[in-house]
Amino acid sequence: MYCPFCGHQETKVVDSRLAGDGYQTRRRRECIACGERFTTFESAELVLPKLIKRDESREPFNESKLRAGILVATEKRPISSESIEELISRIEIHHLQQTVALKFQSFRKKMNHESVTTKRTYV
Ligand SMILES: [Zn+2]
Repeated sequence: MYCPFCGHQETKVVDSRLAGDGYQTRRRRECIACGERFTTFESAELVLPKLIKRDESREPFNESKLRAGILVATEKRPISSESIEELISRIEIHHLQQTVALKFQSFRKKMNHESVTTKRTYV
């Protein structure tokens, strides 16, 4: 990436380590031209699957909508904002894991079906 100080197109990585419980990479970079150092964080961009609403309509997963709903529901309860953020990330991870599990299930079904078909064809 370009140097944020002088705009030079080449910077080198001088240090790289895991951050954020291992879900992020933190890199220390140095500009080849001006010698300034800066830090970048790299993390996976999760594209969460759509939600199916009660009326069967689908809508994209919306973190701020979820947060707003939780805030209304917990308004009169002594729940810290830290706990709410933790809950939101747990919901997101659960949502993602469910989707991966479902995809794997249908993949396995398809593979089983294909192997049965193959057997019938060749036996
Ligand atoms: Zn620079």
